[in-house]
Amino acid sequence: MQIIITMAHNHSSPSLHEQEEYPCPVCHYGKITNMTMMETFSCSFCQHIFTINFERKLLKMIDSQIPLSWLWNGRRWQSDHQTQNNLGLAYILFGLLFIGLPTGIIALGTFIFPPLPESPFAWFTPFWIICTFIAHLFCFLFVVIEYYQWPLGIYLNALKRKVIST
Ligand SMILES: [Zn+2]
Repeated sequence: MQIIITMAHNHSSPSLHEQEEYPCPVCHYGKITNMTMMETFSCSFCQHIFTINFERKLLKMIDSQIPLSWLWNGRRWQSDHQTQNNLGLAYILFGLLFIGLPTGIIALGTFIFPPLPESPFAWFTPFWIICTFIAHLFCFLFVVIEYYQWPLGIYLNALKRKVIST
């Protein structure tokens, strides 16, 4: 009987256990452990707070505005972001428009009404086109980091906190 129980236990080893520690999917550095007297889990490094749905093997970050979740595959956390991956393409298209359209309009304006070559401000139009491009690119990158490649942003924040606290 004991053997059967042990085997069953081994068989179910990919499942999650409340008292074990798990790698943190956010910073990939700390360990997630059960918080004393609570049903939540926290990371030892980035200090984010999670809940675990043991039946669905689902880890949810609860101190973030973005609903992030991961599935446990027995060895590591897998991003549970299939819908967001599909959205990714829409974001890229939106980003290309967001960056390309204003830059294109200004470039077109310059092409239709080119500045006089001897004008002292002739340098300003290409400079302005580049500024428009860079400004929109940064806006878009910020959104991407915040929303899509979020671990980078959170990781840098955690690292900054670590540096400040030491
Ligand atoms: Zn962490």
